[in-house]
Amino acid sequence: MEIVRLHLARLDAFNQIPVHGFVIKHPRAGAILVDTGVGWPTELVKEWKVVNRHAADALAEHDLSPADVKIVINSHLHFDHCGQNAVFKHAPFYIQRSELDRARKEGGVAAQWFDFAEARFELLDGDSDIAEGVRVVTTPGHTVGHQSVFVDTDGGASVMIGDAAYTSDIYRDVDKADLSTWPGQHANRRDWTRSLKKVHKMRPRAIHFCHDTRVLGS
Ligand SMILES: [Zn+2]
Repeated sequence: MEIVRLHLARLDAFNQIPVHGFVIKHPRAGAILVDTGVGWPTELVKEWKVVNRHAADALAEHDLSPADVKIVINSHLHFDHCGQNAVFKHAPFYIQRSELDRARKEGGVAAQWFDFAEARFELLDGDSDIAEGVRVVTTPGHTVGHQSVFVDTDGGASVMIGDAAYTSDIYRDVDKADLSTWPGQHANRRDWTRSLKKVHKMRPRAIHFCHDTRVLGS
């Protein structure tokens, strides 16, 4: 199965990191989108100095349109991962129940963006198959209901790790990583470390990051 990376935004106030979404081109289920970037208007999150893009424009670069997306998976419900969910209101949103609970309690801009009236949530309680060869694995720690997406690709499983690790360096070094310029990497350090070690143990063939253009191979 092919994984296509979308460049959705850049956060100039946070180490100028990119914001990626991913499309899994599934032979039967259609396009599966992992994360939807930052929403509009960006004045709502102006402290992040967002250089934003429309998801439809990012998809068009790959000859895809929002209507091609049949399923959306949100790794978690921070503003830069669910901001354009409403562009895909025809699709179900696969998220962990604990993450929806957390994000609704927290409220704020992210909740405005993911909790629109017609939103159809498919709530998950733990590791789950989404389509043949596509499954989510819980990786709590960044948020309580964070999940990563594993996809069968040639030569093994590849993972879209979400914000379980912001960067490839953090993924590689785990608890030895220098997080001094990365506030918010973990809400719960013990769970976060355990989640990253769990992914390491699964020996993914490739690791794709939301906020790092490097792709790690193991
Ligand atoms: Zn993020």
